[in-house]
Amino acid sequence: MNSITGSSLKDLQAAESKLLVQTYERYPLLFVSGEGVHLRDEHGNDYLDLLSGIGVSALGYNHPAITHAIAEQSSQILHTSNLFYHRGTTELAMRLTEITGLDRVFLCNSGTEAWEAALKLARAHAGRLRAEGKQLGTKFLAIEHSFHGRTMGSVATTHKQKYREPFAPVMPGVEFVAFNDVAALRGAFSTDVCAIAIEPIQGEGGINPVSQKFLAAARELCDSTGALLLLDEIQSGMGRTGKWCAYQHYGIQPDVTTLAKPLAGGIPMGAMLCTEEAARSFTPGMHGTTFGGNPLACAVAVAVVDEIKQSRLLDHITSTGDYFRTRLRDLQAKYPSIVDVRGLGLMIGVELNSDALAKSILAGMMDRRILLNRTHETVLRFLPPFLITREHVDQTIAALSELLALHTPSNLLHSTSLAGEPING
Ligand SMILES: *Cc1c(COP(=O)(O)O)cnc(C)c1O
Repeated sequence: MNSITGSSLKDLQAAESKLLVQTYERYPLLFVSGEGVHLRDEHGNDYLDLLSGIGVSALGYNHPAITHAIAEQSSQILHTSNLFYHRGTTELAMRLTEITGLDRVFLCNSGTEAWEAALKLARAHAGRLRAEGKQLGTKFLAIEHSFHGRTMGSVATTHKQKYREPFAPVMPGVEFVAFNDVAALRGAFSTDVCAIAIEPIQGEGGINPVSQKFLAAARELCDSTGALLLLDEIQSGMGRTGKWCAYQHYGIQPDVTTLAKPLAGGIPMGAMLCTEEAARSFTPGMHGTTFGGNPLACAVAVAVVDEIKQSRLLDHITSTGDYFRTRLRDLQAKYPSIVDVRGLGLMIGVELNSDALAKSILAGMMDRRILLNRTHETVLRFLPPFLITREHVDQTIAALSELLALHTPSNLLHSTSLAGEPING
Protein backbone atom coordinates (compact mmCIF):
# COMPACT_ATOMS: atom_id res chain seq x y z
CA MET A 1 0.00 0.00 0.00
CA ASN A 2 1.47 3.40 -0.87
CA SER A 3 -1.42 5.76 -0.21
CA ILE A 4 -3.71 6.23 2.76
CA THR A 5 -5.70 9.15 1.28
CA GLY A 6 -9.36 8.99 2.21
CA SER A 7 -8.90 5.99 4.49
CA SER A 8 -10.87 5.60 7.70
CA LEU A 9 -9.32 6.20 11.12
CA LYS A 10 -9.33 2.44 11.67
CA ASP A 11 -7.34 1.74 8.51
CA LEU A 12 -4.94 4.54 9.37
CA GLN A 13 -4.40 3.11 12.86
CA ALA A 14 -3.71 -0.33 11.42
CA ALA A 15 -1.23 1.00 8.87
CA GLU A 16 0.52 3.35 11.30
CA SER A 17 0.92 0.66 13.93
CA LYS A 18 3.06 -1.33 11.48
CA LEU A 19 5.10 1.59 10.16
CA LEU A 20 5.95 4.02 12.95
CA VAL A 21 8.29 3.51 15.87
CA GLN A 22 5.79 3.12 18.68
CA THR A 23 6.72 6.13 20.83
CA TYR A 24 3.21 7.57 21.19
CA GLU A 25 -0.17 6.56 22.52
CA ARG A 26 -2.69 8.59 20.55
CA TYR A 27 -6.31 9.45 21.18
CA PRO A 28 -8.51 7.90 18.47
CA LEU A 29 -9.11 11.19 16.65
CA LEU A 30 -8.12 12.18 13.13
CA PHE A 31 -8.00 15.91 12.44
CA VAL A 32 -7.94 17.21 8.92
CA SER A 33 -8.31 21.00 9.31
CA GLY A 34 -8.87 23.79 11.77
CA GLU A 35 -10.29 27.28 11.97
CA GLY A 36 -9.81 29.71 14.85
CA VAL A 37 -9.90 27.75 18.11
CA HIS A 38 -11.59 24.69 16.58
CA LEU A 39 -10.21 21.53 15.00
CA ARG A 40 -12.25 19.53 12.48
CA ASP A 41 -12.16 15.72 12.26
CA GLU A 42 -12.51 13.61 9.12
CA HIS A 43 -16.30 13.45 9.55
CA GLY A 44 -16.63 17.24 9.75
CA ASN A 45 -17.10 17.43 13.54
CA ASP A 46 -15.63 20.50 15.25
CA TYR A 47 -13.70 20.25 18.52
CA LEU A 48 -12.98 23.15 20.88
CA ASP A 49 -9.22 22.99 21.29
CA LEU A 50 -8.04 23.88 24.81
CA LEU A 51 -4.62 22.29 24.35
CA SER A 52 -3.41 23.91 21.09
CA GLY A 53 -1.09 21.03 20.25
CA ILE A 54 0.58 21.24 23.69
CA GLY A 55 0.80 25.02 23.70
CA VAL A 56 2.01 25.40 20.11
CA SER A 57 -0.94 26.71 18.08
CA ALA A 58 -1.23 29.88 20.14
CA LEU A 59 -2.93 31.80 17.32
CA GLY A 60 -5.27 28.90 16.63
CA TYR A 61 -5.73 27.45 13.15
CA ASN A 62 -5.69 29.04 9.71
CA HIS A 63 -4.72 32.41 11.18
CA PRO A 64 -4.29 34.91 8.33
CA ALA A 65 -1.09 36.39 9.80
CA ILE A 66 0.51 32.93 9.74
CA THR A 67 -0.81 31.66 6.42
CA HIS A 68 0.22 34.96 4.82
CA ALA A 69 3.76 34.79 6.27
CA ILE A 70 4.14 31.19 5.08
CA ALA A 71 2.87 31.97 1.57
CA GLU A 72 5.06 35.05 1.20
CA GLN A 73 8.23 33.51 2.55
CA SER A 74 7.85 30.14 0.83
CA SER A 75 7.59 31.88 -2.55
CA GLN A 76 10.89 33.67 -1.86
CA ILE A 77 13.31 31.36 -0.01
CA LEU A 78 12.85 28.54 2.50
CA HIS A 79 16.41 27.82 3.52
CA THR A 80 19.88 29.27 3.07
CA SER A 81 21.91 27.53 5.87
CA ASN A 82 23.82 29.45 8.50
CA LEU A 83 26.70 29.96 6.08
CA PHE A 84 24.91 32.99 4.63
CA TYR A 85 22.95 36.00 5.79
CA HIS A 86 19.23 36.47 5.53
CA ARG A 87 17.15 39.26 7.06
CA GLY A 88 14.75 37.08 9.04
CA THR A 89 17.15 36.11 11.84
CA THR A 90 17.84 39.75 12.69
CA GLU A 91 14.19 40.78 12.31
CA LEU A 92 13.27 38.07 14.80
CA ALA A 93 16.21 38.68 17.17
CA MET A 94 15.23 42.37 17.44
CA ARG A 95 11.79 41.31 18.62
CA LEU A 96 12.87 38.47 20.94
CA THR A 97 15.51 40.56 22.73
CA GLU A 98 12.94 43.33 23.22
CA ILE A 99 10.27 41.08 24.70
CA THR A 100 12.61 39.06 26.96
CA GLY A 101 14.97 41.83 28.09
CA LEU A 102 17.94 39.64 27.11
CA ASP A 103 20.74 40.63 24.72
CA ARG A 104 21.44 37.86 22.24
CA VAL A 105 19.67 34.97 20.52
CA PHE A 106 20.58 31.50 19.24
CA LEU A 107 17.89 30.08 16.96
CA CYS A 108 17.15 26.37 16.61
CA ASN A 109 14.30 23.97 15.82
CA SER A 110 12.69 22.67 18.99
CA GLY A 111 12.43 23.07 22.72
CA THR A 112 14.94 20.44 23.65
CA GLU A 113 17.46 21.90 21.23
CA ALA A 114 17.08 25.32 22.84
CA TRP A 115 17.58 23.72 26.25
CA GLU A 116 20.69 21.84 25.06
CA ALA A 117 22.10 25.17 23.89
CA ALA A 118 21.44 26.58 27.37
CA LEU A 119 23.17 23.64 29.09
CA LYS A 120 26.17 23.79 26.75
CA LEU A 121 26.43 27.55 27.23
CA ALA A 122 26.44 27.10 31.03
CA ARG A 123 29.28 24.55 30.86
CA ALA A 124 31.24 26.72 28.40
CA HIS A 125 30.65 29.79 30.55
CA ALA A 126 31.96 28.09 33.68
CA GLY A 127 34.97 26.94 31.68
CA ARG A 128 35.68 30.47 30.52
CA LEU A 129 35.42 31.83 34.07
CA ARG A 130 37.74 29.06 35.33
CA ALA A 131 40.25 30.06 32.66
CA GLU A 132 40.01 33.60 34.08
CA GLY A 133 40.88 32.23 37.53
CA LYS A 134 37.39 31.99 39.04
CA GLN A 135 36.30 28.94 40.99
CA LEU A 136 33.28 27.41 39.24
CA GLY A 137 32.40 23.77 38.67
CA THR A 138 30.33 21.84 36.11
CA LYS A 139 27.32 20.77 38.20
CA PHE A 140 23.70 21.65 37.38
CA LEU A 141 21.01 22.08 39.99
CA ALA A 142 17.63 21.12 38.53
CA ILE A 143 14.25 20.92 40.23
CA GLU A 144 12.08 17.96 41.21
CA HIS A 145 9.21 17.35 38.73
CA SER A 146 11.04 19.35 36.05
CA PHE A 147 10.71 18.64 32.34
CA HIS A 148 13.23 20.02 29.83
CA GLY A 149 12.94 17.72 26.81
CA ARG A 150 14.06 14.37 25.40
CA THR A 151 17.65 14.69 24.20
CA MET A 152 20.45 13.40 26.44
CA GLY A 153 21.24 16.67 28.22
CA SER A 154 17.59 17.60 28.55
CA VAL A 155 16.61 14.22 30.01
CA ALA A 156 19.50 14.49 32.45
CA THR A 157 17.89 17.65 33.85
CA THR A 158 14.39 16.14 33.69
CA HIS A 159 13.27 14.68 36.98
CA LYS A 160 10.96 11.80 36.03
CA GLN A 161 12.96 8.57 36.24
CA LYS A 162 11.12 6.86 33.39
CA TYR A 163 12.43 9.52 30.99
CA ARG A 164 16.05 9.06 32.14
CA GLU A 165 16.69 5.52 33.32
CA PRO A 166 16.25 3.54 30.07
CA PHE A 167 18.98 5.72 28.55
CA ALA A 168 21.52 5.65 31.36
CA PRO A 169 24.14 6.89 31.64
CA VAL A 170 22.72 10.30 30.77
CA MET A 171 24.82 13.46 31.13
CA PRO A 172 26.41 13.31 34.59
CA GLY A 173 26.56 16.19 37.03
CA VAL A 174 22.92 16.96 37.78
CA GLU A 175 21.44 17.21 41.27
CA PHE A 176 17.70 17.63 41.86
CA VAL A 177 16.40 20.03 44.50
CA ALA A 178 12.92 19.84 46.02
CA PHE A 179 10.46 22.26 44.36
CA ASN A 180 10.23 25.65 46.11
CA ASP A 181 12.47 24.47 48.98
CA VAL A 182 14.75 27.46 49.53
CA ALA A 183 16.78 25.77 52.27
CA ALA A 184 17.41 22.75 50.05
CA LEU A 185 18.49 25.03 47.20
CA ARG A 186 20.91 26.91 49.44
CA GLY A 187 22.18 23.62 50.85
CA ALA A 188 22.85 22.13 47.42
CA PHE A 189 24.52 25.26 46.02
CA SER A 190 28.29 25.76 46.00
CA THR A 191 31.05 26.89 43.65
CA ASP A 192 30.73 23.39 42.08
CA VAL A 193 27.54 24.61 40.40
CA CYS A 194 27.68 26.12 36.89
CA ALA A 195 23.93 26.75 36.62
CA ILE A 196 20.54 26.50 38.31
CA ALA A 197 17.81 25.29 35.92
CA ILE A 198 14.17 26.21 36.61
CA GLU A 199 10.82 26.30 34.80
CA PRO A 200 9.12 29.39 36.31
CA ILE A 201 5.86 27.45 35.94
CA GLN A 202 6.40 23.72 35.65
CA GLY A 203 4.35 22.41 32.74
CA GLU A 204 4.59 18.61 32.51
CA GLY A 205 5.16 18.54 36.28
CA GLY A 206 1.54 19.66 36.88
CA ILE A 207 1.35 23.47 36.33
CA ASN A 208 3.31 24.46 39.43
CA PRO A 209 4.33 28.12 39.69
CA VAL A 210 7.68 28.62 41.40
CA SER A 211 7.57 30.82 44.51
CA GLN A 212 8.94 34.37 44.55
CA LYS A 213 11.31 33.42 47.37
CA PHE A 214 12.68 30.40 45.53
CA LEU A 215 13.34 32.28 42.30
CA ALA A 216 14.88 35.21 44.20
CA ALA A 217 17.16 32.82 46.11
CA ALA A 218 18.25 31.16 42.85
CA ARG A 219 19.06 34.58 41.36
CA GLU A 220 21.01 35.62 44.44
CA LEU A 221 22.98 32.34 44.62
CA CYS A 222 23.95 32.55 40.94
CA ASP A 223 25.03 36.18 41.37
CA SER A 224 27.24 35.19 44.29
CA THR A 225 29.46 32.93 42.16
CA GLY A 226 28.90 33.77 38.47
CA ALA A 227 26.84 30.62 37.85
CA LEU A 228 24.03 31.08 35.32
CA LEU A 229 20.32 31.13 36.07
CA LEU A 230 18.61 29.18 33.28
CA LEU A 231 14.84 29.71 33.05
CA ASP A 232 12.97 27.36 30.72
CA GLU A 233 10.03 29.26 29.20
CA ILE A 234 9.39 26.77 26.41
CA GLN A 235 5.82 26.19 27.64
CA SER A 236 5.21 29.35 29.71
CA GLY A 237 6.77 31.93 27.36
CA MET A 238 5.60 33.98 24.36
CA GLY A 239 2.65 35.47 26.23
CA ARG A 240 1.05 32.26 27.55
CA THR A 241 0.87 33.66 31.12
CA GLY A 242 -0.18 37.20 30.15
CA LYS A 243 3.41 38.48 30.04
CA TRP A 244 5.94 37.64 27.37
CA CYS A 245 7.82 35.46 29.86
CA ALA A 246 6.56 34.07 33.16
CA TYR A 247 9.69 35.37 34.97
CA GLN A 248 8.44 38.91 34.26
CA HIS A 249 5.67 38.31 36.83
CA TYR A 250 8.46 37.91 39.41
CA GLY A 251 10.59 40.87 38.32
CA ILE A 252 13.60 38.55 38.09
CA GLN A 253 15.79 38.39 34.99
CA PRO A 254 17.59 35.16 34.08
CA ASP A 255 20.98 34.90 32.41
CA VAL A 256 19.49 32.49 29.90
CA THR A 257 15.97 31.66 28.79
CA THR A 258 14.54 29.24 26.25
CA LEU A 259 11.48 29.63 24.03
CA ALA A 260 9.90 27.16 21.62
CA LYS A 261 6.40 25.66 21.52
CA PRO A 262 4.30 28.68 20.30
CA LEU A 263 7.29 30.63 18.96
CA ALA A 264 6.48 30.13 15.27
CA GLY A 265 2.78 29.30 15.67
CA GLY A 266 3.08 25.67 14.54
CA ILE A 267 6.27 25.76 12.46
CA PRO A 268 8.99 23.99 14.50
CA MET A 269 11.33 26.53 16.09
CA GLY A 270 13.27 27.10 19.31
CA ALA A 271 15.35 29.96 20.68
CA MET A 272 17.93 30.31 23.42
CA LEU A 273 18.36 33.87 24.66
CA CYS A 274 21.10 35.11 26.95
CA THR A 275 22.92 38.10 28.36
CA GLU A 276 25.83 39.74 26.57
CA GLU A 277 28.15 38.37 29.28
CA ALA A 278 26.96 34.75 28.89
CA ALA A 279 27.00 35.01 25.08
CA ARG A 280 30.75 35.69 25.17
CA SER A 281 31.23 32.05 26.18
CA PHE A 282 30.15 30.76 22.73
CA THR A 283 32.60 31.58 19.95
CA PRO A 284 32.19 30.69 16.25
CA GLY A 285 32.16 26.95 15.64
CA MET A 286 31.38 25.94 19.24
CA HIS A 287 27.68 25.34 18.61
CA GLY A 288 25.33 25.32 15.64
CA THR A 289 22.49 23.76 13.67
CA THR A 290 21.73 23.31 9.97
CA PHE A 291 18.08 24.35 10.02
CA GLY A 292 18.11 26.76 12.99
CA GLY A 293 16.69 30.19 12.24
CA ASN A 294 15.71 29.29 8.71
CA PRO A 295 13.90 31.98 6.71
CA LEU A 296 10.49 30.29 6.85
CA ALA A 297 10.49 29.77 10.63
CA CYS A 298 11.81 33.30 11.21
CA ALA A 299 9.16 34.90 9.00
CA VAL A 300 6.39 33.07 10.84
CA ALA A 301 7.80 33.83 14.30
CA VAL A 302 8.04 37.52 13.39
CA ALA A 303 4.38 37.38 12.32
CA VAL A 304 3.42 35.69 15.62
CA VAL A 305 5.16 38.31 17.78
CA ASP A 306 3.69 41.17 15.74
CA GLU A 307 0.19 39.71 15.88
CA ILE A 308 0.35 39.25 19.68
CA LYS A 309 1.34 42.93 19.96
CA GLN A 310 -1.06 44.37 17.39
CA SER A 311 -4.09 42.50 18.70
CA ARG A 312 -3.14 43.27 22.33
CA LEU A 313 -3.33 39.58 23.13
CA LEU A 314 -1.39 39.81 26.42
CA ASP A 315 -4.28 41.79 27.96
CA HIS A 316 -6.79 39.35 26.49
CA ILE A 317 -4.83 36.37 27.88
CA THR A 318 -4.73 37.96 31.35
CA SER A 319 -8.43 38.75 31.52
CA THR A 320 -9.60 35.50 29.93
CA GLY A 321 -7.25 33.49 32.16
CA ASP A 322 -8.51 35.27 35.29
CA TYR A 323 -12.09 34.62 34.25
CA PHE A 324 -11.31 30.95 33.51
CA ARG A 325 -9.70 30.41 36.94
CA THR A 326 -12.53 32.22 38.73
CA ARG A 327 -15.09 29.93 37.08
CA LEU A 328 -12.93 26.88 37.91
CA ARG A 329 -12.70 27.98 41.56
CA ASP A 330 -16.50 28.25 41.61
CA LEU A 331 -16.56 24.60 40.52
CA GLN A 332 -13.98 23.75 43.18
CA ALA A 333 -16.24 25.28 45.82
CA LYS A 334 -18.97 22.87 44.74
CA TYR A 335 -17.06 19.69 43.95
CA PRO A 336 -14.66 18.33 46.60
CA SER A 337 -12.89 16.21 44.00
CA ILE A 338 -11.18 19.39 42.73
CA VAL A 339 -8.13 19.69 44.98
CA ASP A 340 -6.53 22.78 43.44
CA VAL A 341 -6.78 25.30 40.59
CA ARG A 342 -3.40 26.73 39.57
CA GLY A 343 -1.64 28.74 36.92
CA LEU A 344 -1.21 32.13 35.33
CA GLY A 345 -2.88 33.57 32.24
CA LEU A 346 -3.88 30.77 29.90
CA MET A 347 -1.59 28.15 31.48
CA ILE A 348 -3.99 26.43 33.86
CA GLY A 349 -3.97 23.23 35.88
CA VAL A 350 -6.90 21.66 37.74
CA GLU A 351 -5.77 19.01 40.19
CA LEU A 352 -8.30 16.27 40.93
CA ASN A 353 -8.26 13.87 43.84
CA SER A 354 -7.72 10.74 41.76
CA ASP A 355 -6.05 9.41 38.69
CA ALA A 356 -9.18 7.50 37.64
CA LEU A 357 -11.37 10.60 37.93
CA ALA A 358 -8.95 12.68 35.86
CA LYS A 359 -8.98 9.97 33.21
CA SER A 360 -12.73 9.75 32.98
CA ILE A 361 -13.27 13.53 33.03
CA LEU A 362 -10.82 13.79 30.15
CA ALA A 363 -12.67 11.07 28.20
CA GLY A 364 -16.00 12.79 28.93
CA MET A 365 -14.67 16.14 27.68
CA MET A 366 -13.47 14.47 24.49
CA ASP A 367 -16.94 12.93 23.99
CA ARG A 368 -18.26 16.49 24.32
CA ARG A 369 -15.72 17.56 21.68
CA ILE A 370 -13.53 19.62 23.98
CA LEU A 371 -9.79 18.85 23.92
CA LEU A 372 -7.44 19.10 26.88
CA ASN A 373 -4.95 16.71 28.45
CA ARG A 374 -3.73 15.29 31.71
CA THR A 375 -0.32 15.81 33.20
CA HIS A 376 1.28 14.47 36.35
CA GLU A 377 -1.59 11.87 36.37
CA THR A 378 -4.17 13.89 38.30
CA VAL A 379 -3.89 17.36 36.76
CA LEU A 380 -6.16 18.50 33.92
CA ARG A 381 -4.06 20.84 31.81
CA PHE A 382 -5.44 23.74 29.78
CA LEU A 383 -3.14 25.44 27.26
CA PRO A 384 -5.74 26.96 24.93
CA PRO A 385 -5.02 29.17 21.94
CA PHE A 386 -4.59 32.81 23.02
CA LEU A 387 -7.79 33.62 21.08
CA ILE A 388 -10.34 31.81 23.24
CA THR A 389 -13.19 33.93 24.55
CA ARG A 390 -15.37 33.89 27.67
CA GLU A 391 -18.02 32.00 25.67
CA HIS A 392 -15.53 29.16 25.14
CA VAL A 393 -14.71 29.23 28.86
CA ASP A 394 -18.43 29.07 29.73
CA GLN A 395 -18.93 26.12 27.38
CA THR A 396 -16.00 24.34 29.04
CA ILE A 397 -17.21 25.04 32.57
CA ALA A 398 -20.69 23.74 31.71
CA ALA A 399 -19.23 20.49 30.36
CA LEU A 400 -16.89 20.07 33.33
CA SER A 401 -19.68 20.77 35.78
CA GLU A 402 -21.92 18.15 34.14
CA LEU A 403 -19.12 15.54 34.28
CA LEU A 404 -18.15 16.32 37.87
CA ALA A 405 -21.81 16.00 38.91
CA LEU A 406 -21.97 12.58 37.22
CA HIS A 407 -18.91 11.46 39.16
CA THR A 408 -19.81 12.92 42.54
CA PRO A 409 -22.20 11.09 44.87
CA SER A 410 -24.78 13.66 46.01
CA ASN A 411 -23.87 13.24 49.70
CA LEU A 412 -20.36 14.54 48.87
CA LEU A 413 -21.55 17.62 46.99
CA HIS A 414 -20.80 20.87 48.72
CA SER A 415 -23.97 22.88 49.02
CA THR A 416 -23.52 26.15 47.15
CA SER A 417 -24.28 28.15 50.30
CA LEU A 418 -21.07 26.71 51.73
CA ALA A 419 -19.08 27.72 48.64
CA GLY A 420 -15.37 27.76 49.40
CA GLU A 421 -15.63 25.92 52.72
CA PRO A 422 -14.18 22.45 52.61
CA ILE A 423 -16.28 19.65 54.03
CA ASN A 424 -14.82 16.31 55.05
CA GLY A 425 -16.67 13.49 53.41
C1 LIG B 1 7.88 20.88 25.72
C2 LIG B 1 8.94 21.34 26.63
C3 LIG B 1 10.30 21.11 26.35
C4 LIG B 1 10.74 20.30 25.15
O1 LIG B 1 10.37 20.87 23.92
P1 LIG B 1 10.37 19.95 22.60
O2 LIG B 1 10.04 20.92 21.50
O3 LIG B 1 9.37 18.87 22.80
O4 LIG B 1 11.74 19.41 22.45
C5 LIG B 1 11.22 21.62 27.23
N1 LIG B 1 10.88 22.31 28.32
C6 LIG B 1 9.59 22.57 28.61
C7 LIG B 1 9.25 23.37 29.82
C8 LIG B 1 8.58 22.07 27.80
O5 LIG B 1 7.31 22.29 28.11
